[in-house]
Amino acid sequence: MSGWADAGFATRAIHAGQEPDAATGAVTVPVYQTSTFAQAEVGAHRGWDYARSGNPTRDALETALASLEGARHGFAFASGLAACDAVLRTCAPGDHVVMANDVYGGTYRQFARVHAPWGLTFEPVDLSDLDRVAVAWRANTRMLWIETPTNPLMTIFDIAALSAFAHERGARVVVDNTFATPYLQQPLALGADVVVHSTTKYLGGHSDVVGGAVLTSDDRIAEQVRFLQNAVGAVPGPWDLFLVLRGIKTLAVRMRAHCENARAVVAALCAHPAVRGVLYPGLAGHPGHGVAAQQMRDFGGMVSFHMADAGAALRACARFRVFTLAESLGGVESLVEHPGRMTHQSVAGSPLEVPDDLIRLSVGIEDPADLIADVEQALE
Ligand SMILES: *Cc1c(COP(=O)(O)O)cnc(C)c1O
Repeated sequence: MSGWADAGFATRAIHAGQEPDAATGAVTVPVYQTSTFAQAEVGAHRGWDYARSGNPTRDALETALASLEGARHGFAFASGLAACDAVLRTCAPGDHVVMANDVYGGTYRQFARVHAPWGLTFEPVDLSDLDRVAVAWRANTRMLWIETPTNPLMTIFDIAALSAFAHERGARVVVDNTFATPYLQQPLALGADVVVHSTTKYLGGHSDVVGGAVLTSDDRIAEQVRFLQNAVGAVPGPWDLFLVLRGIKTLAVRMRAHCENARAVVAALCAHPAVRGVLYPGLAGHPGHGVAAQQMRDFGGMVSFHMADAGAALRACARFRVFTLAESLGGVESLVEHPGRMTHQSVAGSPLEVPDDLIRLSVGIEDPADLIADVEQALE
């Protein structure tokens, strides 16, 4: 984290934690494919003793991600959900968590079916209405869990206002920053205590790795997460760390291209007669547009839209050719999916159920003309 603190975002993405290798001069951080490290005498090692506890490739990624989020501490995990799990385990049985009423389906499933049975209580709330948050708040509410923009409804929540609200009541604020990335949104600077990421998405950026991360400047939370990372052991392997490190080097240019292409696709969707409504925070008519314009640098590469009904949505999903029909998001290639039947099947029947006429696009960085032509032929 030292040395690059004053550099710009794109510079830190390439250099923070990624100085040439001290032993060999290798310009790229090597993949330290080793499970253990030699000790000169008992207890005398060079900072690493066993690879679950840490390895130099992981240190590089953790330092780089912390730098990008403006955090003092970074922790890499084997998946985004492993990162969420570590953060939720900093709560104790009996604690109450107020969460956004539109979150990644797997996050909700983890709350409802992993942490609730162990004694955590939680309540999904529309966080855009502070009165509702106040009604849901309890004496034992210890954590506020925010995702913004949300997946898949693209709702925007005001991180600064919610952080102030929660801090007045002594609770920690967590933001899942997967959709925005630190390039577009800096939750810690807006007042949040913890950022979680699925690095599988934009940070990796090439749909070739699954990973997660936790970033914080709070020393106490960092101590808890550091302990859990090692004690539970959901750590990524060195190749996966390397792939995320490689991905973040181009995060700034990729995000600019994602945003630009999303704008072009949104314009085409808005003009299309088969589209009933477009959910994109960059649209002036989006209810969260004002807040998004304040807390984000740009509006991102994720777009959702309503078709006439479920049948029309399912038929359209099958007709895309440049957009690949697949779960996940944030890679260089464009993806299309039906949240109700795919990524958010795990919330069917819950308060978080998503409308079945909805299609979600992860707009990639191909030529925008090809993306627009594909949208138009698929919706015909
Ligand atoms: C994908 C995703 C997750 C889960 O991450 P994995 O890497 O799939 O475990 C969490 N939050 C959001 C917003 C996601 O999109």
